[in-house]
Amino acid sequence: MSQPTLSIVCPCYNEEEVIDIFLETITPILKKTQKSYEIIFINDGSTDSTLEVLKRAKESYASIRIINFARNFGKESALTAGLDSSRGEVVVPIDVDLQDPPELIELFLQKWEEGYDVVLAKRANRQSDSFFKRKSANLFYRLHNKISAIEIPNNVGDYRLMSRRVVESLKELPENQRFMKGIFAWVGYPTTTIEYTREPRVAGESSFNGWKLWNFALDGITSFSTVPLRVWLYIGMSISALSFLFGITIIVKTLIFGVDLPGYASMLTVILFLGGIQLMGIGILGEYLGRIYNESKRRPIYIIEGEY
Ligand code: UDP
Ligand code: MG
Repeated sequence: MSQPTLSIVCPCYNEEEVIDIFLETITPILKKTQKSYEIIFINDGSTDSTLEVLKRAKESYASIRIINFARNFGKESALTAGLDSSRGEVVVPIDVDLQDPPELIELFLQKWEEGYDVVLAKRANRQSDSFFKRKSANLFYRLHNKISAIEIPNNVGDYRLMSRRVVESLKELPENQRFMKGIFAWVGYPTTTIEYTREPRVAGESSFNGWKLWNFALDGITSFSTVPLRVWLYIGMSISALSFLFGITIIVKTLIFGVDLPGYASMLTVILFLGGIQLMGIGILGEYLGRIYNESKRRPIYIIEGEY
């Protein structure tokens, strides 16, 4: 097969309801661009009939390739697999639930032809997400960008265009805990941004909620920043300095006013407070240690059961 111009990368996890709608929507748009294309679906260990639906779709759409994972490895791994096997001159990862409007692909290509290697799609508003998700996402971006060496653009998801050389650079990042937003930002290259409105899912349910998002945020921060590790030096120094001052006041007070029996409530508060602080420090150490542990096993990022 010859090299297509455009590779579309679609991670799918339990998406049986949306695949057909997705293909019906995106195909006319891709045809209109008059570029050759391939659509790579990564079935990320779905427990419903996603794989069957994909295989059936392949009979009517020749440009489809299916990568089937041996189990659920998560969206980040699915994206990585898609990038690894993509052959296009440009690659566009897109969610299959049509929350990323495929109409943007034409604009992406225009910008690419103008000479940009990366075209980001920025969500102009996130009305389709819940209040809590919007607020927490905002907080995350602010915190992350404050304490990390690389900046991840606010409200930009995985939906974007990347040129071949960007994808080749991405492949050189060997870590197996993959926080894609960070990894994408890390490689750099000339970048531009276009804005769009994010629609609600056409069908099915989001698999990122509460606890999963919290862990995702932790992953993001620990992947690209060591500030949470270093901050303990300063917390420790401040507390030592304060206790030194406190010690001096006690000595001076004793010399002037004589011996005094301090309350045991304040003692207990200080002990518990410091205990809490120390445990938090150990917890953060543990977070990084766990990452080193996982990384040091050098396991593959995903396992492919088969390609169809
Ligand atoms: N996804 C995946 N593996 C997972 C979870 C999700 O490949 O373990 C895919 C999913 O099929 C969809 C995309 O990642 O194409 C985004 O997921 P979702 O719509 O659930 O997340 P949200 O849009 O709410 O962030
Ligand atoms: Mg979605």
